[in-house]
Amino acid sequence: EAKREGRNRASSFNWSLKERFNRVHEVETGLRRALETNELKLLFQPIVDLESGHIDACEALLRWDHPVLGPISPGEFIPIAESMGMIEAMTGWVLREACIAAASWPGEVRIAINISPASLKSHELPGNVIAALLETGLPARRLELEVTESIFLDDSGQTNTILRELQRIGLRLALDDFGTGYSSLSYLRSYRFDTLKVDQSFMAGVSSNAEDRAIVRAIGNLARDLAMDTVAEGIETPDQLLHAREAGFTNVQGYLFSRPVTSERIAEMIATGPLEGAERPDPVIRKR
Ligand code: C2E
Ligand code: MG
Ligand code: MG
Ligand code: MG
Repeated sequence: EAKREGRNRASSFNWSLKERFNRVHEVETGLRRALETNELKLLFQPIVDLESGHIDACEALLRWDHPVLGPISPGEFIPIAESMGMIEAMTGWVLREACIAAASWPGEVRIAINISPASLKSHELPGNVIAALLETGLPARRLELEVTESIFLDDSGQTNTILRELQRIGLRLALDDFGTGYSSLSYLRSYRFDTLKVDQSFMAGVSSNAEDRAIVRAIGNLARDLAMDTVAEGIETPDQLLHAREAGFTNVQGYLFSRPVTSERIAEMIATGPLEGAERPDPVIRKR
């Protein structure tokens, strides 16, 4: 799947203006229909406890298989859904589907959902959240919302109000793609984020790049002192895992452990126990 997405991206680079226009138009038309026709699917990717190897949470990731165009990545269709004013309906659908899935899993595994900045400005969000929790019986503490730093560009105060409302309901909040946006450390002071998710671009560089290693270690220290959980995203190799461990991260997520998979597969993985990869800490690092 990754390969196919990659090829789509590579070729779309050379598209003419007319081809782009047609593509956006087809995506728009398709999106209007997709919510009703089961073309949208959610997959789930484990977020693994670095110490125990157990699954702490799973991130819900949208997938869309267009009947003609084939798989379209959320990176492409989410911005289009936003510009069409469809993101609220889509977020509502994701919330409900994700809570249904999480409620079916054994134990206390949390569900993490991506919330786009446009959704966070909408006063429908807290109501949608409460409706999904009531309908599925999922406790609020098992629902985590992932937001990116770009939400802080909105200075209307609306985002602020809604974030606090969500925290009052008892949800967890995660700051996603940390370090790539309009990072200002003052956000970490005004909002109590439960989790920092360090962008995968930093993890991609740790094996070859001393600067990336220094940044990742600094973020690890900062988060620990502020008592936040830390997720290293995009862990693909044992060496990256080692660096996440060395930087003191609490959690890891990436292809090394699992690609995004179905809810049924997650239930099996939870029942099976600790995931490979996290189980084999480097003895040298572990001694510290
Ligand atoms: P994100 O929230 O930062 O999600 C992580 C992305 O990294 C996902 O891409 C995931 O499949 C990918 N990934 C996970 N592990 C690895 C790895 O080891 N290596 C590499 N190279 N990639 C890895 P995906 O599913 O294509 O999603 C892209 C973005 O689209 C997400 O970034 C998120 O911002 C957005 N998105 C996805 N689902 C939703 C949704 O339901 N609602 C909203 N608003 N946005 C969504
Ligand atoms: Mg933990
Ligand atoms: Mg995310
Ligand atoms: Mg991310």
